[in-house]
Amino acid sequence: MNKKVTIIGAGIAGLSAGCYLQMNGYNTEIFEMNSLPGGLCTSWKRKNYTFNGSIHWLVGTCKDINMHRLWEELHAIDDSKVVNHDEFVRIEFGRGKFFSVYSDADKLESEMLKVAPEDEKTIREFIGAVKEFAKYDFPVDKAPELYGAIDGIKLLFKYGPFLRLLGKWKSVSIEDYGKKFKNTDMKIIFPQLLGLDTRISMAILLMTLAWIHKKCAGYPLGGSLEFARAIERRYISLGGKIHYNSKVSKVIIESNRATGIELADGSTYRSDAVVSAADGYFSVFNLLNGRYAGSKVKNRYENWDLFPAICQVSIGVKQNFDGYPHAVNFSLEKPLRVDPKHEVSRMYAEIYNFDPALAPHGSTPIIVTLPADYDYWYTLKEAGDGNYENAKKSLANSVVKVLDEKIGNVSDKVEVLDVATPATYFRYTNNYKSSFEGWLPTPKVFGKRIEKTLPGLRNFYMVGQWVEIGGGIPTVALSGRNLAQIMCRKDGKKFRAVV
Ligand SMILES: Cc1cc2nc3c(=O)[nH]c(=O)nc-3n(C[C@H](O)[C@H](O)[C@H](O)COP(=O)(O)OP(=O)(O)OC[C@H]3O[C@@H](n4cnc5c(N)ncnc54)[C@H](O)[C@@H]3O)c2cc1C
Repeated sequence: MNKKVTIIGAGIAGLSAGCYLQMNGYNTEIFEMNSLPGGLCTSWKRKNYTFNGSIHWLVGTCKDINMHRLWEELHAIDDSKVVNHDEFVRIEFGRGKFFSVYSDADKLESEMLKVAPEDEKTIREFIGAVKEFAKYDFPVDKAPELYGAIDGIKLLFKYGPFLRLLGKWKSVSIEDYGKKFKNTDMKIIFPQLLGLDTRISMAILLMTLAWIHKKCAGYPLGGSLEFARAIERRYISLGGKIHYNSKVSKVIIESNRATGIELADGSTYRSDAVVSAADGYFSVFNLLNGRYAGSKVKNRYENWDLFPAICQVSIGVKQNFDGYPHAVNFSLEKPLRVDPKHEVSRMYAEIYNFDPALAPHGSTPIIVTLPADYDYWYTLKEAGDGNYENAKKSLANSVVKVLDEKIGNVSDKVEVLDVATPATYFRYTNNYKSSFEGWLPTPKVFGKRIEKTLPGLRNFYMVGQWVEIGGGIPTVALSGRNLAQIMCRKDGKKFRAVV
């Protein structure tokens, strides 16, 4: 008889694990607390506007890299509906002075040399590294957990130069590398290149720029929810079953073995194994009551850096922004206060003039993402005294005012204003401290592996951004695939993945 597996969460990790387990003869059911698939990978509709809540770039949108196979297996994207921007983002580095982050590495190099000729040596080294990374790909065929000695030797033989390159760049942060530049404008521009947190390892910046250069990290038209919906369809077509509006409150344990789940309404479901694709902290400390946490897990939640919480201000504007760059990183003359802990001097705005599916012709969604304090917004919302709504309105108005100054009169044409705060992300996804991507890949932790199991507990597994440092959609999809391989190995089955 086929084994029964319960999966908690229909984010990309849960959907992916479900698809690959179905492909391998398991009977799976997903329990999702929301009424939609996708988790963080989502979009929402307000009047005529669809606001994209996740994908800016998706690694694997070209056929040239291994990751593309996953999107084929999951039927996730239509290759003909992917946008690769020539100019990835435009950065303002002084009042009215702009720098174009070109996707093409040679054009980016020329742009950098134009601004900072005195930094030629560093610029050539940096772009040289982007091009070097562009020559390589990483393997997705086999879960690293299943590598044996022979695989290790094969890997060294095939990927030796890539591993050396990775080793060279992984231990430097973006912030530290940026200190090499002498030019004062380049000192402003460099840390903003992709808008990544500057504590992140340089290897991530270089790899991402390499994928963008190769046109392998595009944007799938239709946005994040459409992408998740495509994988949901694939899962259902493989025979999987999703229960929406079903919040899991407990994993049932018998003799240190996971034997099923209990929902918030008290109903129970039995299975041979349980996979949590939900928030890591909630899984370990709530669903399992902290019984199998162990010191390693506790240390991670106490000491590791997270991708920060954010506010997303989404604005529906009745204007056609044809000819405008699709993403601008503005420098602000006056700092903008997001909350008591965050005052920003820069603002990243995406003008969705490139995706006609998101608004009627002549209307454009604009999205501004700002760092925010989880505790402040969560406490404000919980107080329920109206101050939360006021703070959201005030933030939205401040953002519109900046857009008025930067791209002309926007306020008269605003049709929809929507603010998602860390409290929104927590309510909707349950993610620890509302982190939007899990563990930050700093030099200290980048490259480490997190176990998908917990010590002393059998038949329980975890997938998704809390067991894959750096998170992100491709990584969590791969997490689901890798887990299916691990379970197949344990059950003596030959893993198969079909397109
Ligand atoms: C603004 C933003 C921009 C981003 N940009 C990019 C990008 O450009 N490229 C990229 O690759 N990634 C990006 N990401 C990150 C990416 O979206 C996430 O890393 C990824 O979607 C995480 O997937 P997951 O399945 O691991 O977790 P989640 O998406 O958190 O899924 C977990 C699921 O579990 C459900 N759940 C939680 N608790 C329970 C429970 N008790 N019972 C039942 N269900 C439960 C949740 O509702 C959710 O559906 C971005 C994210 C955000 C928010």
